[in-house]
Amino acid sequence: MAPTTEHPVTMYYPHDLHRRHGDLCCEQVLVARIAKAVGTPVYIYSYKTLVEHVRRLRAAFGAHAPLICFSVKANGNLAILRLVVQQGAGLDIVSGGELYKAQQAGCPASRIVFASVGKRPDEIRHALTAGIFCFNVESAPELAAINDIARRMRTTARVALRINPDVDAHTHTYITTGVAETKFGIDRVTAITLLRRHADYPGIRFIGLHVHIGSQISDSAPFVKAIRRVAEVLEQGRAVGVPLEWLNLGGGLGIIYKDERPQTPQAFAAAVLPLIRQLQVRLILEPGRFIIGNAGLLVTELLYIKQARGKRFAVVDAGMNDLIRPALYGAYHEVMPVTAPVTGWHRAGVYDVVGPVCESADVLARRRSLGVMEPGVLLAILGAGAYGSTMTSNYNGRLRPAEVLVRGRRWAVIRQRETLKDLIRHDVIPRSLIR
Ligand SMILES: *Cc1c(COP(=O)(O)O)cnc(C)c1O
Repeated sequence: MAPTTEHPVTMYYPHDLHRRHGDLCCEQVLVARIAKAVGTPVYIYSYKTLVEHVRRLRAAFGAHAPLICFSVKANGNLAILRLVVQQGAGLDIVSGGELYKAQQAGCPASRIVFASVGKRPDEIRHALTAGIFCFNVESAPELAAINDIARRMRTTARVALRINPDVDAHTHTYITTGVAETKFGIDRVTAITLLRRHADYPGIRFIGLHVHIGSQISDSAPFVKAIRRVAEVLEQGRAVGVPLEWLNLGGGLGIIYKDERPQTPQAFAAAVLPLIRQLQVRLILEPGRFIIGNAGLLVTELLYIKQARGKRFAVVDAGMNDLIRPALYGAYHEVMPVTAPVTGWHRAGVYDVVGPVCESADVLARRRSLGVMEPGVLLAILGAGAYGSTMTSNYNGRLRPAEVLVRGRRWAVIRQRETLKDLIRHDVIPRSLIR
């Protein structure tokens, strides 16, 4: 067998993980060194991978440079948001909380877009006060609500109607958002009706259309189909005098977790650009996973090897509260020892990697060859940058993990590990009811 230093870490292109004498490094820093200093579980992100993904996506579009609005729900760490904004990107938010974070990260309001089927009045006011670039509106009643609030505030709200194009992106049901049965977006007939009645909404400036058909999409065909479907709405809107200038294609670009072969940014651009030119629209993209997914890993420590009924469990100190994707979506994440096992990678050791949480769903990975392992070794869970830390919880009284950013030879904590006090910070024992 080939020397152990060539473990499939190289498969996970493109990212900035490699092995130095068998030991896993993120950029120039030993992963084990960070884990030792900060403890486990810990999320580690590569600066270079993140920046490179923004650059690659932008470069693919050349002169038709889209406004890239990073999806905050994929990773909302303030340092990550700041870094993305520094690269010239804007932010895609789905709540008033994310608006606050976007502002704290220093994102210009002119680069913020706001989607969500359930925007509350206070969130709408907050966004209007901030002067965000546009609301992606998901229903007729929401449009009416934004219109009313904008009028009362004596302003106008820029709006893109989010169209539900009824296109199946062929991804996981929980991350499919563009078929008619989901709660997202407005059907085309209703959208055309709203655009015809644009004069009834003096508080609204209709600037374009929005579609977001799902996540982890590996092929450009569904995007092309979606554009074709919204083209009709665009033309009808323009025909009744609404100057629709922007098309927001949402996020959804897939990445490699295992053996996927997602479209490259170039292939994606080549597929959509002809239509964009034809429609004479300016493009907005809302990538989340594509930017940060492969830039992050979760590092955990092996606590016990447990044998049961011919099965072998690797019990680790990270659980579904730290990374819920396997439990929620049946998602696959590559798992590998941080330090090369002396016996080689594929000998004597197939494990289910499980966390400590009291749920049968708390399985991070199934049937993985991890070699002979002793408690105390560190395991890296790859592709954990997107929908990892943002979906953490305190379930089972567990503290949310620390987060670290690596840049070249340097690294820094970008989120402190929670403390026990954090667990009870917001709880109240009311003296009036309980003595
Ligand atoms: C979640 C979401 C995104 C980001 O999706 P990715 O698959 O992470 O690129 C973009 N736009 C909207 C409206 C979303 O809800």
